[in-house]
Amino acid sequence: MLQEKITQYTAEINAFSTTKADELEQFRIKFLGTKGIIKDIFDEFKAVSPEEKRTLGKVLNEFKQLAEAKYQSLKEEGGQAQGGKDAGMDLTLPGEGFEVGARHPLALVRREIVEIFNKLGFIVAEGPEIEDDWHNFSALNFPEEHPARDMQDTFFIKKGGEKGDIALRTHTSSVQVRMMEHGKPPFRALMPGRVYRNEAISARAHCFFHQIEGLYVDEKVSFADLKQTLFYFVQELYGEGTKVRFRPSYFPFTEPSAEMDISCTICKGDGCQLCKYSGWVEILGCGMVDPNVLENCGIDSKKYSGFAFGMGIERIANLKYEIKDLRLFSENDTRFLSQFKSALI
Ligand SMILES: [Zn+2]
Repeated sequence: MLQEKITQYTAEINAFSTTKADELEQFRIKFLGTKGIIKDIFDEFKAVSPEEKRTLGKVLNEFKQLAEAKYQSLKEEGGQAQGGKDAGMDLTLPGEGFEVGARHPLALVRREIVEIFNKLGFIVAEGPEIEDDWHNFSALNFPEEHPARDMQDTFFIKKGGEKGDIALRTHTSSVQVRMMEHGKPPFRALMPGRVYRNEAISARAHCFFHQIEGLYVDEKVSFADLKQTLFYFVQELYGEGTKVRFRPSYFPFTEPSAEMDISCTICKGDGCQLCKYSGWVEILGCGMVDPNVLENCGIDSKKYSGFAFGMGIERIANLKYEIKDLRLFSENDTRFLSQFKSALI
């Protein structure tokens, strides 16, 4: 009895081949539903004799598996034919990862420096990269015969003209001039940006690099303020206990001028290759803003005084990450850039 039914239904299942959703659903209800044929057959099976159970049990299970397999395969086939979005998709597989970008090391260092000076009330100021002679040289006290005005050192865009020579700025000091011209003291600002020099590209020099300068102008600003500000900056950037020293220097736009060294970050002063066994590493130039510069920008130099400082962002990044070749910063090699991923947050 039961065997006959199974044989008959097996033939029906094998003959069934439509993938139409509604007919397939009817098939499911008919065979696999809670009131379906398989349920009925299993109910009947309970009543057969123990001898029959042994032979029929296996047949019954195979019949059930056949109905389920038929339904699944037709359903999948139908889904793919319709191009359903879940067709053939295994939702239990892990998702595809996506690449997270990294911040450029120069951007990281720039941000770190800006954050330190922000705590002291310094804002960020910006200016154009194409500058005229006045903002890049004359207002900053560069004498006519200064070598920086030479074609050998600077990229000129236009010689002569209404506003004098036009060039790619050679330093971010031009932003200081613009700020002082258009505002009133007190000034407390940082000027980060890209600058250009006519240099052959090598591991140690590039035709463009990045500077960050600072300017503080107010009444009674002294060299002691300059020293304390930079001392604080160095402790924040390189850690407590980092020593500083100032060496007399010369810049056209500051008087007096100095260069600042810090105790070597690698050997802590004992002497190593980085500091050329001196124990000291130069990191920036600074000085009191020359009264001529203040006057050039329309500021009363008898009432106001100020200090300025400037450093190369590449230089600071080199010391921080021990990068030996400057060219890496501008080549966009992802093998280099991806190393800064961990510093993303
Ligand atoms: Zn050293």
